[in-house]
Amino acid sequence: MKQAVREQALALGFDECRFAAAAPPVTAPQFLTWLNNQRHGEMGYLERNATKRIDPQLVLPGANTVIVVAASYATREECRPTAVAAPGLASRPSLRAHHPGTIARYARFEDYHTVMGERLKQLAGFVGRLGGPETRSLWYVDTGPVLEREFAQRAGLGFVGKHTNVISRQLGNWLLLAEILTTLPLEPDPPEKNRCGACARCLAACPTGALIAPFQLDARLCLSYLTIELKGSIPLDLRPKIGTRIFGCDDCLAACPWNRFAREARLMKPHARPELGTPDLLDLLSLTEAGFRQRFAGTAVTRTKRRGLLRNVCVALGNSGDASALPALERARHDPEPLIAEHAGWAIGQIRKRATADRPGR
Ligand code: SF4
Ligand code: SF4
Repeated sequence: MKQAVREQALALGFDECRFAAAAPPVTAPQFLTWLNNQRHGEMGYLERNATKRIDPQLVLPGANTVIVVAASYATREECRPTAVAAPGLASRPSLRAHHPGTIARYARFEDYHTVMGERLKQLAGFVGRLGGPETRSLWYVDTGPVLEREFAQRAGLGFVGKHTNVISRQLGNWLLLAEILTTLPLEPDPPEKNRCGACARCLAACPTGALIAPFQLDARLCLSYLTIELKGSIPLDLRPKIGTRIFGCDDCLAACPWNRFAREARLMKPHARPELGTPDLLDLLSLTEAGFRQRFAGTAVTRTKRRGLLRNVCVALGNSGDASALPALERARHDPEPLIAEHAGWAIGQIRKRATADRPGR
């Protein structure tokens, strides 16, 4: 039965499918300490559903198995031997955009929640038909209270690296996870163990020190959190570290040597939107609400809404130090959205400060 589920998952386009017992996660105490230390920042949903997150029986009473699937989002380029990028390579700008910003690799596709969700729903249906009418299942692509990284390691799919993301020996770390909780009993796979060894490249690559120790992320310092999850103003001291990133950060993932095993995306490949990778910041700054919705429809970037993305665009332009962005930033300073206006004002100040510092004789 387990083999049939696995074969069906692979046939649906997933790159991996493994099985774990739906027992409470052993990393629950660390998770609760992380929450108590407020390292989740404003991600209040993690706190609200914490009790469910540490007990799968509260999510699905009678759950026996967690089926964990993974889909690679590596491009062919990332699968070459040079894929083990030096820190910052992920942020290298395109030559085409005059003021290029950078969007994290996972978001250069149609929204993976939708792409994976459609297939996972089909897989859950298959599990239901295999198990019979008594079988109950729930499927989640990020949306459920499941400590998925622990289940991925417990199921042998990969291991949690020092950068706190899952690494597969077959796929590297450019992968997306999703899971099905089911009452159907399926034999668990052997767990994977951590294989970072003495490596600490991801910690060295992190621009903000958000990886405060191996396996410990302070989300409040993480550029992914600051550019996506944080809804309000970005702390002043962290803005310069954002560089030209406008949605997420790939530096710790790009630094990982296990990416030499990256395998080109299958499920995600037809849904690639490469033009999203390094968009022109001035183009983005001119987007209206309708323009934003049209440009990013069906992608994960909609999570920030226009106000969050243009906030980030302002910071990126401020960090670029390019005086040719000043007229557009002056217009943005009068944007009806106060968050955008405030960050535009900051960016103007940064560019002027740099121009003054660069003036001959100073
Ligand atoms: S995503 Fe970027 S900021 Fe966050 S931990 Fe990784 S390298 Fe650091
Ligand atoms: S970069 Fe090194 S330490 Fe970090 S997750 Fe990868 S193998 Fe582990």
